[in-house]
Amino acid sequence: MIETSTKKKKVGGLGLPAHKHCVICGGVVPPDKNPPVCEGQCEEELIKREKRSKTFNLVWMMMIFGLLALMFISFYVVPR
Ligand SMILES: [Zn+2]
Repeated sequence: MIETSTKKKKVGGLGLPAHKHCVICGGVVPPDKNPPVCEGQCEEELIKREKRSKTFNLVWMMMIFGLLALMFISFYVVPR
């Protein structure tokens, strides 16, 4: 989420039409495009990235859960 001064509604003397930048390649996309990506390659890339990050999150959660379980087990199993 990198949004700088997009809250400024006033379009200066430049007369730039409202637009967004593609999150993949930085190209100009229509403002109503959600998510802001170009059609085709960039859209596919975004889907790929989302899938990857979902898998990554799942792996992390499993690792943390596994670690907690290991700590729990070692706490009760290791004789004192
Ligand atoms: Zn793009």
